[in-house]
Amino acid sequence: MKLYNKHRKVELIIDQKLLERIGKKGIEHFPNEFGGFLIGKYSDDYKTLFISDFILPKSYKGSRYLFERSSKGMKSFFSNLFKKKKEYYVGEWHTHPNGSTGFSATDLNAMINIESSTSVSIKNPVLLILSVSAQKINQATFYIYDKKKLLPYE
Ligand SMILES: [Zn+2]
Repeated sequence: MKLYNKHRKVELIIDQKLLERIGKKGIEHFPNEFGGFLIGKYSDDYKTLFISDFILPKSYKGSRYLFERSSKGMKSFFSNLFKKKKEYYVGEWHTHPNGSTGFSATDLNAMINIESSTSVSIKNPVLLILSVSAQKINQATFYIYDKKKLLPYE
């Protein structure tokens, strides 16, 4: 699946099967929110982001309307991943059980904090929000973070 972000003129590529695997993990935690990290790599010109896998956080808080992951223990994980596979942290994902894929003020603030954090930081992290029911993924929306804004891919 190939998506395009017209604001930054960049592409995002993710395998449909991978997206389904992420959704399945989210559905297992229904009706609570759940999420984690996205990993992948950019093309040499930084125009295309390939999402290759997802990681579950080592510790997190997930309730009906909130998901907060800790980046505890992730720094060494990501540095090993880069050494082994030349892939790295590219962003975040979480579910909105029976909700929309629109982001909340809390979601935006979390991305602002992530960009300034030293443990897992890249310039324009992506955010994947998955609307899920107890059985299936309803919708999935990717956003790119840029200058305190979240801009959707189409
Ligand atoms: Zn959210």
